[in-house]
Amino acid sequence: KLHNTIQEMKGNIRVFCRVRPIFQEEGDPEAGISVVQYPNTTDLLGRGVELVPMQAGQRHFFSFDKVFGPETGQESVFTEISQLVQSALDGYKVCIFAYGQTGSGKTHTMLGNPEVDELRGVIPRSLEQIFRSSQELITRGWTFRMQASMLEIYNEQIRDLLGSGRASATEGGTPMKCQQQYQVKHDQTGNTYVTDLTVVDVTNWKEVSSLLHRATVSRSVGKTALNEQSSRSHCVFTLRITGSNESTEQEVNGVLNLIDLAGSERLSRSGSTGDRLKETQAINKSLASLGDVIAAIANKEQHVPYRNSKLTYLLQRDFLPLFFILQPCLGGDSKTLMFVNIAPEAKSLHESLCSLRFAAKVN
Ligand code: ADP
Ligand code: MG
Repeated sequence: KLHNTIQEMKGNIRVFCRVRPIFQEEGDPEAGISVVQYPNTTDLLGRGVELVPMQAGQRHFFSFDKVFGPETGQESVFTEISQLVQSALDGYKVCIFAYGQTGSGKTHTMLGNPEVDELRGVIPRSLEQIFRSSQELITRGWTFRMQASMLEIYNEQIRDLLGSGRASATEGGTPMKCQQQYQVKHDQTGNTYVTDLTVVDVTNWKEVSSLLHRATVSRSVGKTALNEQSSRSHCVFTLRITGSNESTEQEVNGVLNLIDLAGSERLSRSGSTGDRLKETQAINKSLASLGDVIAAIANKEQHVPYRNSKLTYLLQRDFLPLFFILQPCLGGDSKTLMFVNIAPEAKSLHESLCSLRFAAKVN
C-alpha cells in the first residue's frame, strides 16, 4: 500500500522543457545559430531535446514529459497545464516552478505580459481559469474563499510584495532592507503561513490583475538595485482556495503556488565579496536544495532535506509529498510541475547543459 502511494507521488512530479526563440545579436558571429535540436523519433515526439555544440564536441540528449520549442506560444503551453491548474479547485496542492538562467524565459512563461492577450503567461491564465470554473461551481451550490499572496525570497529573507509602505524603505536609493519579521510557520491542520504576510481576498480576475500590478511595482522600486535583484530572488505567487458545498457536505482546501525562481546561472564565488558573496551563496544554496528535495522525493529517500532553505521550507506542505507518507491518511494530494527554460544561443550552451541536468535529476 505504501509502495502504491509512493508510485503515485512520483507520478505527481513532472518536468516540461521550454526553449525560447533565438535572439539576433548584432556583432556576434554565432548569432542566429541555435545549439538546440529536437530529435523526432516517434517514441519521443515532443519529448526529446538535444544540445549540439557548434564545434565538434559531445552532444547531450535529454527527455522530459514535454518539450516546447521556440514556436510554441503561451496558449499552447497553458493547454498542457490547464488540467493541473484545475486540480487546485479539487483540493490539490499544486506547485508550478520555472527554472533556468536569467534571460531564458522564466518570467515570460510564468507571468508574460498580463496586458496583452496572447502574451499572458501561466499566472494570469491560471487565475482566469480558476475564477471561471469556480463560477460554474457556485451555481451548483459551492461557496469559495480565494486568498492571494505574493512574496519574494531574497538572501533567504522573505519580502512581502503586496504589503503597503514598502516604497519608503528604499528612500535614498539604497536597496530595500529585508524585513526580519516574516517567518514561515506550519500549523497543525497542515497549512503553511507566513507571519505578517499580506493576504488579499480575491473574487475575480480584475482584482488579481491589480495585485500583480502592485507586486510588479513593488519589485521594481529602487530601480537598478532591485531590477538586478529580481533575477536573484525567487518570486512566489500563492492562491489558497477554500470551498464548501453545504448541500453535498463537501469541502476542498486547495493551493496553487506559481513560482518564478532566481536565475540558475552558476554564480562564481571568486570575485564576489561582502553582500554579493552572501547573495550568491544564498541562491546557489536554495536552488541546490530545491533540486535535492525533489530528487529525494523522486528517489523515495527516507530523509528529505526541506529545512535547508527558506524556499523548500515554505513549500514543504504543498509540494513535498513525503510529508504525506508520514501521514498517509492525508493522501498524496500534491502535484508539482517544473518548467526548465532554455536559451538556445551557443554562448548559453554550458548554462543550458547545467539546467537540463538539474531538470533531469528531478524528473
Ligand atoms: P527570465 O525571466 O528567465 O530572466 P525572461 O522571461 O525575462 O527571462 O525572458 C527574456 C526575454 O526573452 C524577454 O524579453 C522575453 O519577453 C523573451 N522571451 C522569453 N521566452 C520567450 C518566448 N517563448 N517567446 C518569445 N519571447 C520570449
Ligand atoms: Mg525573470
